[in-house]
Amino acid sequence: MKLICIGRNYAAHAAELGNARPEQPIVFMKPGSAVLANNKPFYYPDFSQDIHYELEVVVKIGKNGRHVQPPFALDYVESIGLGLDLTARDLQQQCKEKGHPWEIAKAFDHSAPLSAEFVAPADLPDLNDVEFSLEKNGEEVQHGHSRNMIFSLTELICYVSQYFRLQKGDLLFTGTPEGVGALAVDDELVGHLWTKEGKRELLRTRVK
Ligand code: ZN
Repeated sequence: MKLICIGRNYAAHAAELGNARPEQPIVFMKPGSAVLANNKPFYYPDFSQDIHYELEVVVKIGKNGRHVQPPFALDYVESIGLGLDLTARDLQQQCKEKGHPWEIAKAFDHSAPLSAEFVAPADLPDLNDVEFSLEKNGEEVQHGHSRNMIFSLTELICYVSQYFRLQKGDLLFTGTPEGVGALAVDDELVGHLWTKEGKRELLRTRVK
């Protein structure tokens, strides 16, 4: 199982970090060991003093495929959940300055807390406009609508499957909206997603 992640996929988030709007999807990977499942706590690592949260809509891939074509892209979506793309912003900045790969800043152990539950596409009001939000210590810090993604789900699935064979169980992190920020020990993060039945808590983790 692999985690395929997309950077800078919301214009307002690219702008808040001083990055240009990308012309093609920015793709990076996390290993399976990045997953933090079942709402377990996140232990702040020693190697960073500036871990940021980024809440993202996560697609669980339901079948194997390569070179997926647009009319079939959404057939690969098994379910939708939420994930945090935790980022060591201090290490990332050093990597960017040196032109180095940024895995140590993005793909470290437990850098991907994942929602305990995933939702079937049929239970969402609109697969192409998923609404989601993140609360930190009871206060909303991010609120996204996936229609604001620069590259849509269909475009992302087609693009990444040119390079990486999609396999059942893979997770596609689709990028974060604006409002990212730093984490501190004792913070509690709660992610919500809007289903046809209304707002539903899917993810919760505490920083230790
Ligand atoms: Zn991200």
